Amino acid sequence: MRAPVWTCLLFLIAGCLSCGQKPQENVSDQPAQPQPAPSGQSYVGELERLGRDGQDILVLGVDAKGFERLSLRQKQLAYYLYRAAIAGNDVFTDQTHRYALEIKGLLEQIHLHSQDLPQATRNAVHDYLKYLWINHGQYGSESHVKYVPNDLTFEMLGQAAEQAARGGANFDLVAGETLEQKLRRLRPHIFDAAFEPLQTNQKKGDDILATSFVNLYPPRISQEMFDKQVSDEMKGRLNVRFDLDGGKITPRLYRIGGVYGKYLETISHWLKLAVPLAESEEQKKGLEALLEYFRTGDENKFREYSIHWLKSNTTIDYLNGFIEQYYDPRGVIGQFEANVSYVSDSSLISRLAANADYFEKRMPWPDKYKRDRVTPPVANVVQVIVETGDSGPTSPVAYNLPNYEDIRRDAGSKNIILFNVEAAQSARIKEQTIQEFYLPKHQDNYRKYGDLGRQWEVYMHEVIGHGSGKPDGALKADPRTLIGRAYSALEECRADLIALYHILDPKLAEIGAFSAAEQRRVAEAQYIGYLQGNMNRYRSLQDDIVREAHRKGRELVLRYLVEGGETGGKDFGVKVVQVNGNYYAEITDLDKAHQGVAEILNRLQTIKSSGDADGATRLFDRFGTRINVAWRDNIKQRAAKVKIPREAAFVFPQLVPVLKGDEIVDVLLETREDLTVQQLRFSRWQFNTELWPEK
Ligand SMILES: [Zn+2]
Repeated sequence: MRAPVWTCLLFLIAGCLSCGQKPQENVSDQPAQPQPAPSGQSYVGELERLGRDGQDILVLGVDAKGFERLSLRQKQLAYYLYRAAIAGNDVFTDQTHRYALEIKGLLEQIHLHSQDLPQATRNAVHDYLKYLWINHGQYGSESHVKYVPNDLTFEMLGQAAEQAARGGANFDLVAGETLEQKLRRLRPHIFDAAFEPLQTNQKKGDDILATSFVNLYPPRISQEMFDKQVSDEMKGRLNVRFDLDGGKITPRLYRIGGVYGKYLETISHWLKLAVPLAESEEQKKGLEALLEYFRTGDENKFREYSIHWLKSNTTIDYLNGFIEQYYDPRGVIGQFEANVSYVSDSSLISRLAANADYFEKRMPWPDKYKRDRVTPPVANVVQVIVETGDSGPTSPVAYNLPNYEDIRRDAGSKNIILFNVEAAQSARIKEQTIQEFYLPKHQDNYRKYGDLGRQWEVYMHEVIGHGSGKPDGALKADPRTLIGRAYSALEECRADLIALYHILDPKLAEIGAFSAAEQRRVAEAQYIGYLQGNMNRYRSLQDDIVREAHRKGRELVLRYLVEGGETGGKDFGVKVVQVNGNYYAEITDLDKAHQGVAEILNRLQTIKSSGDADGATRLFDRFGTRINVAWRDNIKQRAAKVKIPREAAFVFPQLVPVLKGDEIVDVLLETREDLTVQQLRFSRWQFNTELWPEK
């Protein structure tokens, strides 16, 4: 499970403001061929903005400090894991929609052969391609709703494709299909927002399989047919795609020789090189189990890997596999993601983790749902080197894994905070946001303590949040399976509430999070940032439905507190007020808000521990799904004035090996790529097994 970057997005920084470097002004005027930055120039901080008035996406270059201080062996290990991450990038693209990879390939080929196209067409192609890279396809990675190109028309695409074909572009035409036919087939997928409009639909009352077009199920398959034809074992599988064979739904496993075989082979090539360099026995066994899992598709091997992974507290760490389940309407099948990171400073978070037992005892829910003995989870603050698939270019700021409930209960879990991603923020955007969106009475306090409150929200969400609690002793199955589609939102909401609940605990001042004198002010800043931040995110909504799990959780907390709970009418010290026509969240009484948080948390934990699917669905349908349209329209109007990008995407550093023959004698970390150069390189390197393919 993860905390998404958007939660802090409203004060993201252009790093260029803090380091004084000038980002490139207008990327769309760049030549079509990839151009690495001139020697010495660093692509860190704000690189470009996409969309009308730059309001869709802010592209930030991320740096990673201290890589050069790692040992040669650690650098080599990082490099092999880095290559394994790149090798899996397009697995996720293919998972997002059955034509996503084909559309990306088409646009990349046109872009690479666009020298002779009119400038307007080149720019329109390039612009759409950036969205495809960032979202891994034609649906918004956060909204799960189809978007269409800003400027590109079908006619422009047709002309551009024909010209690119004459210039040597390779469009991978299948037998019997002309380029023109291919373009006509893809046309509604690119240009018609109403055609297959949703990637993942979890709305109650809808047939969630028939209306979700994520590439995990045959298109338009009904829930009823799925339930009837698919075995219980396959319904619970993490690494499977369901195809239609002669009218019958057929499960196919992700494994070498199966679905994504060629990708998994390349990934395995690099993971094998990493094995002898592992920093601990646990890490080595984890890599071996992962290789076996990719070879056989046996999910037990991934469970084995997960246990070794959570126990391996090493400097170099990584993810590689089918992990989070947010894209599956049923919440079961995993999306591919990979990353590589190394530990920077973890002292504060280690102290929080060392007190996990203390916080568990003070959770506001019945003792029978508390863990008897909490093993302090591993919690690391890391610098991330690269993220691919589901975790990049859009990135979480933190995650807590594995997701298997029984492993979490019996062996614990590991928390990772991506420090260099989390710290990427902009003083300028932050100030604009405070002035426009926060009630004057909250502004100064939020200005001063907002970052600190947010930091501890993330820490507690991950370190003492997800790992807490236990199922009722009488429960026969995993709560995830019992609760089904409401589970992800429930779990994210539960972890958020634990952070909101414990922010007032004196232990935090004791371990040095902040001074005791400042604690209430930090807590107030955290609460207002959480509630107002949720409202501010309405600006990215096209309709009135919240679909993403974390956002559903935040919406539930806001509405529950404002409406006074399930019976209504309770005063939880939180209001949405209208001042001069604008809507604001207001905290009138922090202690009452804290009581409200305890009440929701108790309710959610009881639902989770008892596997109460109806309870979960009822609560989220009432408070965490449908937003207030008047609030949304007002937020949109104000956001348009401030022109803040709705989302952030990241360009990561690249690792460059120094070779002596075929031996790596050093590895350099550089920040000399923009989004285009980096993504084209990832595509180029997909199946490559040379140590340095760019010679
Ligand atoms: Zn989470």
